[in-house]
This record gives sequence, C-alpha cells and structure tokens, in this order.
Amino acid sequence: MNIHEYQAKQLFAQYGVAAPKGCAARSAAEFDTALATFPEGVIVVKSQIHAGGRGKGTFTNGYQGGVKVAKGKAEARAIAEAMLGNTLVTKQTGPAGRKVQTIYFDTASSIEKEYYLAILLDRATSRPVIVASTEGGMSIEEVAAKTPEKIIKVRVDPAIGLQDYQKRQVAFALGFNGDLLKQFGRLITGLYNLFWEKDCSIVEINPLATTTEGQLIALDAKVGFDDNALFRHPEVAALRDLNEEDPKEIAAHKFDLSYIALDGDIACLVNGAGLAMSTMDIIKHFGGEPANFLDVGGSASREAVTEAFKIILSDPNVRGILVNIFGGIMDCDVIAQGIVAAVRDVGLKLPLVVRLEGNNVANGKKTLAAAAAELPTLISGDSMADAAQKIVERVRLAA
Ligand code: ADP
Ligand code: MG
Repeated sequence: MNIHEYQAKQLFAQYGVAAPKGCAARSAAEFDTALATFPEGVIVVKSQIHAGGRGKGTFTNGYQGGVKVAKGKAEARAIAEAMLGNTLVTKQTGPAGRKVQTIYFDTASSIEKEYYLAILLDRATSRPVIVASTEGGMSIEEVAAKTPEKIIKVRVDPAIGLQDYQKRQVAFALGFNGDLLKQFGRLITGLYNLFWEKDCSIVEINPLATTTEGQLIALDAKVGFDDNALFRHPEVAALRDLNEEDPKEIAAHKFDLSYIALDGDIACLVNGAGLAMSTMDIIKHFGGEPANFLDVGGSASREAVTEAFKIILSDPNVRGILVNIFGGIMDCDVIAQGIVAAVRDVGLKLPLVVRLEGNNVANGKKTLAAAAAELPTLISGDSMADAAQKIVERVRLAA
C-alpha cells in the first residue's frame, strides 16, 4: 500500500526525519485555512497523487507542472485551484494520468544541493538496504543506468539494526561532515526506525536537500508498506486513499482475491499465484494478451468465484475468460458447480474456457458438460495448452 507525500511527511515528523512544514487541503474551501498556517512568503504547491515525476508532469488540460513555486498566498491559491480536480500525467502515471484530489502547501526551502536517499528491501540478501546518491532530484533509474558508480548501497543486518559506522559510511559517501554529519545521523536513524517499525517496503526521499541555511531536509517523501503486515498497523491502514486505487482491485481485496488489472482482453481466473503466472504466460505464448492476474486462492468459495467473475466483467476490455483450476485440496466438482452458478448469476455472454485438473476432476467435467446446453459460451479445455489455444481462438473469431 502506498500513501501520499503529505502523509509520509507526517510519519517523518513522528520519527524525527526533518521535512518542511506543510499543510494539506482536499477542497478549494480548505485552501484558505491551510494557507493561514503559513507566514507570508514563498510557498510550494504540490499535487498529491500516488506517483512521482509530478514536478515535470503536465495536466491533461495543458497546465504545466504538478509541483510549483508560488511567490505568495494569493498565487499559491490560484495554482492550487488550477491543479485540484484536474488530471496530472507524469512518467509514472501512464498516459491516463491521475486526478488530483488533494493539494499540499509546503514551506519553500532554499536548496543548495539535492541528494537521493532510500531504504528498501533487498530480496537477494533478505535485508533492508540503504540506497544513496549525490545525484538527487532525478530518477534513480536514470542514475543507475548512466552513472552507477554514483550510487552507494549499504545492507543492514536486521538482527542488530543500523550501526553507527554504516550511518557514517553513507554520510561520507554523500560528502557530509561537521553539523551536516550530525543531522544526517539523526535523519537516517529516524528513517530506518520508520522503515522497520511500520513494516515498510520502501521509504524514499528524492530529493533530500541541503539548504543555504545549512539544514538537511526531506523535500519529497515516498513511503510504501507491505500489505501482508498491514494488520499490525491499523493507523497505517487508515491512511489508505481509495481514490488512488483501481475499483476492481478494491473489490477483489474485500473477497481476499489477488487481482491486478492488465492491458489485454483475455481474463484469467486461476487458483494459486504460480499457476496464475503460468496461465498468463501460456495465453501470451498462443498469441493472446491477458487482461488481468487473478488468484482466487486455495479455498475459493462459490461467492468468491461469483465475485471474481463480476470483477472480470466490469473491465470493458475483456473479450473472453479462461478459468484454469487445479483441484488439490479443493474438489473440482465443487468448483465446477461454483463456476456454473456464477456464470448463470452474472448472465455471461462472453466465451469462457474452463480447464480443470486434479481431485474429482471426472465429476467436475460432467457438471460442466451437463450445463453446456444452457450455457453455450462455456467450452471445456483438456490441458493448459488446449484451453489457452481455445480461448485465444474464440476471442480472435469474435473480433
Ligand atoms: P516529484 O518527485 O513528484 O517531481 P518533488 O516533491 O520531488 O516531486 O518535487 C519536485 C522538485 O521540486 C524537487 O526536486 C525540488 O527541487 C522542488 N521542491 C519540492 N518541494 C520543495 C520545497 N518544499 N522547497 C523547495 N523546493 C521544493
Ligand atoms: Mg521527488
């Protein structure tokens, strides 16, 4: 789960990570109250969306920049009005962009130099890794591609935590000494504690900046959390902004279905993440494009299968469905009955290929065959390859 910059900065404040003082507003009516918390002077106006690259982004109505500097409150208000409710397209949003529904007014800092600092999970070593660079403000992927020597990585042993020598190692690589070294020590300690205590998958500051007044301060903030640990942090779960999430993914979440929307037209409904991945692969292998990843889990109920069909069908791009179920503990006949009931429930018109394998598969196939007469779009597939070929072919014929 991701949160907005303004929420991330609230967490930073709790952990002693220095950031400019700011105030968020969700409607034009809130702009004046938010701006009243600032002294007269320069204010940075920042669109809040779950994507980076806002500074260089463009709104679909042509307005330039999702992060802008205003000379005073009147200008800040005007900029905020131009941003709110409009759709911002950045390198990270894709062409559809994201509608800006919250504005963050931020105290302007006089930047001396920008740096990059992040902590994320290094899957290879199963450890938190600090990633830092003197090349801040730009995308770290670009730095990694062009000047990889300018990125330093320090892995932390979670059993003993972040050590002072590691903090100095990163600080020296960034060229900090004197008071900046002390400030960096406090900042990285707070950032690591936040990462660790809140079960984050990433905390990223880009840019971390030194100011002309000699301060070290987080100008941007990105924090992502491990969904599997959210149950331990209700206060974090409360930060969820459903406006930023795909409604299909939200519905799937309610029924414990793992669903991710993709760009293709063949929907798949599968039990088990590995089988879901290979199902997407085999659809592609036979020339089709998967419309989603959908894992109904090991013990999908009839309700969950029905809900899965509804979610799939709410995607206007879907032209056919491939159900690929391996009955290990689950009984294939129960699944077949569930599928038939779900197809009737939702009144399915699109081609549907069902491939069942495993426990009680013979009876499962009988159930499908018996229903075939009244469900003409239902086709049985024998192997994965057979099923994938059939659905790709049907979708092609229909088109
Ligand atoms: P994004 O990464 O989405 O473009 P940032 O928060 O990094 O958004 O803002 C873009 C740029 O705007 C930053 O690289 C920084 O130069 C500038 N900026 C952002 N916040 C402030 C601030 N509070 N004071 C001064 N400059 C800022
Ligand atoms: Mg940034």
